[in-house]
Amino acid sequence: MLKMFIESFKNLVSEPETIKYPFSPSPEPKGYRGVIHYNEELCIFCDKCENICPPGAIKFVVVDYESGKKEYNYNPYLCIYCGACVRECPKADDGCLVQVEKRMPPLGRSVPKGKELGYFINRIENPKEVEIKWREIEEMNVKSKEEYKAYKRAKRVKKI
Ligand code: SF4
Ligand code: SF4
Repeated sequence: MLKMFIESFKNLVSEPETIKYPFSPSPEPKGYRGVIHYNEELCIFCDKCENICPPGAIKFVVVDYESGKKEYNYNPYLCIYCGACVRECPKADDGCLVQVEKRMPPLGRSVPKGKELGYFINRIENPKEVEIKWREIEEMNVKSKEEYKAYKRAKRVKKI
């Protein structure tokens, strides 16, 4: 009887085991394969992550033909959290590309930001623009790579 009383009292004062979903978000389970975090300082711009990505959620845009500098654009709303990019990245062990245990919140009135998410999402102000702006990135990706190739070809010819 005393044991039951102690147990009941403990339950009365302890935190509830349940969560208040949908009023508070449900936590991700341990080992959850979530969004991709990127560190530009460690990137060697090999494009392997872009080439392996099944839905095309990573797109590099060449922004400086002389140095070959590229901007990493990641669309977390296209990403299927498969982790293929991280497995393919030669600098992943250093922390260049990491899959974290966090899913992307639904697009509400604001767009989630963070340097680790790359350039694309950080430049979006209106959530309704995500799709159209991503199409622009896809076009810039193709165009800048073609122009970069042509630039390098022209440079080689000049040297001959
Ligand atoms: S986790 Fe998969 S879908 Fe997401 S960016 Fe990486 S390769 Fe693409
Ligand atoms: S695979 Fe890794 S090193 Fe290569 S471009 Fe992608 S993030 Fe950079």
